[in-house]
Amino acid sequence: MKKSLSFKVVVLILCCLLSTSFFTGITASESKSAPKNIIFLIGDGMGPNQVKMAHDYIGKNLNMENMTYKGTSETSNVSGATTDSAAGGTALACGIKTTNGYVGVDKNGNPVQNIREFLAEKGKKTGLVSTVSIADATPAAFGAHNISRTNQSQIAAEYIQRKIDIIMGGGGKYFSQELRNTAKAEGYTVITTKNELNSHSSSTRLLALFHDGNFPEYKNGYPSTTPTIAEMTSKSIDFLKDHEEGFFLMVEGGLIDITGHANNIDNNIAETLQFDQAVKVALDFAKQDGNTLVIVTADHETGGLKQEGNNYRFTSGSHTGVNVPVFAEGKGAENFQGNLSNADFKKKIMDLFVEDESTTSVDTTAPVTTTPITTVANTTANDTTTPVTAADDTTANDTTTPVTADDDTTANDTTVAGISTVETAETTAATTSTDTESSSPIYAAVLAGGVVIIVIGAVIFMLRKKAANE
Ligand SMILES: [Zn+2]
Repeated sequence: MKKSLSFKVVVLILCCLLSTSFFTGITASESKSAPKNIIFLIGDGMGPNQVKMAHDYIGKNLNMENMTYKGTSETSNVSGATTDSAAGGTALACGIKTTNGYVGVDKNGNPVQNIREFLAEKGKKTGLVSTVSIADATPAAFGAHNISRTNQSQIAAEYIQRKIDIIMGGGGKYFSQELRNTAKAEGYTVITTKNELNSHSSSTRLLALFHDGNFPEYKNGYPSTTPTIAEMTSKSIDFLKDHEEGFFLMVEGGLIDITGHANNIDNNIAETLQFDQAVKVALDFAKQDGNTLVIVTADHETGGLKQEGNNYRFTSGSHTGVNVPVFAEGKGAENFQGNLSNADFKKKIMDLFVEDESTTSVDTTAPVTTTPITTVANTTANDTTTPVTAADDTTANDTTTPVTADDDTTANDTTVAGISTVETAETTAATTSTDTESSSPIYAAVLAGGVVIIVIGAVIFMLRKKAANE
């Protein structure tokens, strides 16, 4: 009798513990430190010397150099090697290191929530802008989940499927007429020239494709139909800024990398300065708005740019492991200084949205996204200079495509079925980001819950057994 009473007390205590562990998961509320708007600018291939060389050329600070908070970021990929833009972009966007060629998926091919998705779930409008193909690796890391960066047609289709509010840049050839029609049916305005951009004024979704491939190098100016990166950034902000819940905008200066690969000093300077004009647009808006965070960094350095006296010289045709600069300004900017890792940015942004970091992490309030991986195909895209051909998606139809993404089977099972860009392949493995972002209290709570359930089960079993014996 006495023993059975103590059992009941134990059960009661355990039930209390269990309910507490549930409540810790839902107490997070949005922080006052959270910026309303975030503008994330990425100079692809922009190392410290690319900035310094452009600085020396104009003889004064770039706009980014005048930003209040400064730091550096290391850029290695999951194996500790030099990254490409796919793994580099994925680190920045998703907060995890992955294999070169992978966009928005971890090394096993599992999709990981990116920061744009996190903020879209907060009700923000989102946009992607680039001077290269908008379906190329860097923007793709913020807009899609694909085991190969070369599957640009699938990545393009995924953007439309996800209803990203602004999709702007080059890469028109990856948006078929059929896909453009689908976009229109989804409420997108589809435009292809600078004039159309200038006369566009509504806040409808916008698909703006100014070139079939990459933009030309800026050195001698653009054709009259092509907007500059600063103009694209300015118009994007105009379209997004009236949204009550705020916005997230990713802007990539893609030709800093291309001119770095080509070891073209003059054109590299021109691209960095163009990119810096986009930074200025973002900073001007942030200053006037007062509720915006601006972050400027790079995914990696390209070309091994070295300073020798007053001159600069490229020493490589590839990417290097040189740490890249980080600049930040505006609300929450103080969190982006010192020595960072490319996988730190997502968590640092997410942390701004948590009232009290000590009790819980944001992941508990963020609904799990259903992230389709569109296909498994070519995984050899480690070289960013590899030309992307129109045939890049053809291997995706082959269900026998060898899967090189080693041991995980869940994600691969859902993907080898072929192109499923419209039909959402819901994977149970979706949003594995909790692995890297959750703070220990969440795990403790989940673990405690599991233990409690097991203990209660055992207690009930013993009580019943005891009753049966009596
Ligand atoms: Zn590159």
